[in-house]
Amino acid sequence: MEEAERIKNLPPYLFAEVDKAIARAKQEGKDVISFGIGDPDLPTPSYIVDRLVEEARNPENHRYPSYEGLPAFRRAVAEWYKRRFGVELDPDTEVVSLIGSKEGIAHISLCYVNPGDINLVPDPGYPVYSIGTLLAGGTSYMMPLDEKAGFLPDLDAIPVEVRRRAKLMFINYPNNPTAAVATKEFFARVVEFAREYDIVVCHDAAYSEVTFDGYKAPSFLEVPGAKEVGIEFHSLSKTYNMTGWRLGWACGSARVIEALGRVKTNIDSGVFQAIQYAGVTALTGPDEHTARACETYQKRRDMVISGFNSLGWDIKPTKGTFYIWAPVPPGFTSIAFSNYVLEKAAVFLTPGIGYGQHGEGYFRISLTTPDHRIQEALERLKKAGIRFDRAR
Ligand SMILES: *Cc1c(COP(=O)(O)O)cnc(C)c1O
Repeated sequence: MEEAERIKNLPPYLFAEVDKAIARAKQEGKDVISFGIGDPDLPTPSYIVDRLVEEARNPENHRYPSYEGLPAFRRAVAEWYKRRFGVELDPDTEVVSLIGSKEGIAHISLCYVNPGDINLVPDPGYPVYSIGTLLAGGTSYMMPLDEKAGFLPDLDAIPVEVRRRAKLMFINYPNNPTAAVATKEFFARVVEFAREYDIVVCHDAAYSEVTFDGYKAPSFLEVPGAKEVGIEFHSLSKTYNMTGWRLGWACGSARVIEALGRVKTNIDSGVFQAIQYAGVTALTGPDEHTARACETYQKRRDMVISGFNSLGWDIKPTKGTFYIWAPVPPGFTSIAFSNYVLEKAAVFLTPGIGYGQHGEGYFRISLTTPDHRIQEALERLKKAGIRFDRAR
């Protein structure tokens, strides 16, 4: 059974590998504290669960859902957008529901990429941008995210031939894995660039609501002209602790949303309506649960940063996402450091190389670990003598 080239070239999904490494350590009897996958440890707010339970009992929701998403869900998205960003969306033409935003991110390349085409992809970045590109037969041109440039891509550094052949540009702020944020000025520059080279911008805003110290992340669609050149991906996963539910949406350019909807109607049959109704309850409900989750992450951020800084690191406070992105000590590759820490302290840090070549030299910590486990992990690192020393 000869596999197709497109899947032969597929790297194993990073976190599937991570799970295996942790499982091996556990089998050896180690009590591993994982700072690996970013999956909220806090439960979905109960009023959202209640709505699911109620709607699950309604036989009308047991049938195939409507393809583009329930009108009630798309309206709730448009209202939330207006309230949150002051951006008007037409729920009929500018919003499509997704089976989690990962699904839409993986499928958008099928809408625009012919074999040989190029997508502009951030490196380090969420792996699905380049995987979706690969599955569509395209090639990713990696845009390095450099710490000195605030982890924003340098658009001027992209060769003109690449710009001309590029179909999509993926960007993601607040950013996974670097925790960087972007300004509206940066988004405006992206709009200008996309207009000039006829590129569809795909902004992944999965962490728009996970922010700290009063910072509010802007939407890409707040920038004039953005809705003509691109779409924004959103997810209920991180905002409402709903990673297991699989609900998100894309919104923006009606042309792009229509194209994505057309691919999707031919591949999937939408999201269970009871889940979409629960999504309506989430989006129209109070913001206090999200605010409290952010307080929890902010407290953990402070714990982790002060813990690591006491071991020689110099990590600055982050404004968003539940990640800390920090350099590995001199003398280690990211994988060697991750293995070393797992071995010496039974603590798992995700090696930066998993997010791309330019992730080398870094590791990522996810703050979706209970407070007492974070404390324990920091004590273990200290006891194991793990430090960041410039001269080694
Ligand atoms: C978690 C995450 C997503 C995917 O979220 P789902 O809606 O659960 O599919 C998308 N992008 C980034 C950067 C993420 O970290």
